[in-house]
Amino acid sequence: MECPFLKTCIFFQDRMNNMPATANVMKKRYCLGDNSQCARFMVAQRLGRDKVPTDLFPNQYDKAKKLTDNN
Ligand code: SF4
Repeated sequence: MECPFLKTCIFFQDRMNNMPATANVMKKRYCLGDNSQCARFMVAQRLGRDKVPTDLFPNQYDKAKKLTDNN
């Protein structure tokens, strides 16, 4: 399933600094697969899109969890 944030997500649009070599794999896995497991999606859904850190990658689940737990 396509993530509803695809068009504006800076990760999907390759606008993040230091894009990992595995970015395309992550896009398939999260953005075009199970976005409910994506760290960026989690934060956007729980706290709002403006609260998603610019440097948060989809696989940084623990970081997302800390952010959402504290809010
Ligand atoms: S990185 Fe996450 S929030 Fe962004 S498009 Fe992919 S699944 Fe959606």
